Amino acid sequence: QARAARRKIAVFDAEAYGDPASNLSLMSGMLRAIEDGHVELFYQPKFDLRRRGVHAVEGLVRWRHPVRGMLRPDLFIPMAEETGHIRALTDWCLRQAIVDQKLMAEAGHEIEVAINVSGRLLGDPEFADLVEVLAPQACGKLIFEITETAVIENPDLALTILDRFKAAGVDISIDDFGSGLSSLAYLKQIRGHELKIDRSLVVDLTQSQRDALIVRSTIDLAHSLGLKVTAEGIEEPDAFQLLAAMGCDQIQGYLIGKPQTLTDLMDFLRDDRGE
Ligand code: C2E
Ligand code: CA
Ligand code: CA
Ligand code: CA
Repeated sequence: QARAARRKIAVFDAEAYGDPASNLSLMSGMLRAIEDGHVELFYQPKFDLRRRGVHAVEGLVRWRHPVRGMLRPDLFIPMAEETGHIRALTDWCLRQAIVDQKLMAEAGHEIEVAINVSGRLLGDPEFADLVEVLAPQACGKLIFEITETAVIENPDLALTILDRFKAAGVDISIDDFGSGLSSLAYLKQIRGHELKIDRSLVVDLTQSQRDALIVRSTIDLAHSLGLKVTAEGIEEPDAFQLLAAMGCDQIQGYLIGKPQTLTDLMDFLRDDRGE
């Protein structure tokens, strides 16, 4: 009964995203899309400001829809979260990230690979079961960027599941910090390894003294908690310099590289090493 009710809510919420018929068929097509290889992981480099090179990437999912063309995640992730399809999608991302990391290693690139994990999966012990099986098979460091899309319903369970990820060797990254969804309360609860400063916090960094103060304080706060800091959405060389001066650890953004196919990423990594 509860399940039926939840399904009804999922149907109702899907309507909020636009044309209900096409969105529902979009979701029912997602599992097929995964099976048919229409879903792909793109990778965006993270530039290490101290080591002056790329040693980490973030996987960002893309859906090559045969009719609608290339779909960006903002179009289907929220719905996938509502309908529960996010679980199958994330399972796939995890497997793919491990395969791709191995391919990178075979090409001589030792790269930390991050995937995005919806806060909703912190309520899914079966996902943690899978992580415990798969993560030890990875040939390098795996990172889960935890994206908070809704209030975590059961904080105790969420913390237990996070501990299970960590015990399986996965590093935890607090994503979109400062975006409104990811806040200080979140930082207080989650003991992670990395904090990602949301693009909205850094977008006016070089124009506004006030924004610069906020970013600097955020970096210091994170460091005092033992977290590595990655600033995302960096497009300007001036922001790069300023963040380096502020002691930020990594930057990510179009300035360094866009999300790209594994093939393009491999070329990028080869050039990055100056080969
Ligand atoms: P995010 O984790 O904050 O990822 C960064 C987004 O900013 C990406 O959009 C990326 O393409 C974009 N971006 C990167 N650098 C720049 C820049 O310099 N300037 C600008 N303007 N944008 C930049 P994308 O790929 O469309 O992903 C959107 C969001 O979808 C992600 O935000 C993430 O929250 C979510 N997402 C993507 N893949 C997955 C996934 O596999 N699972 C889950 N749960 N969420 C995912
Ligand atoms: Ca992310
Ligand atoms: Ca982010
Ligand atoms: Ca963001």
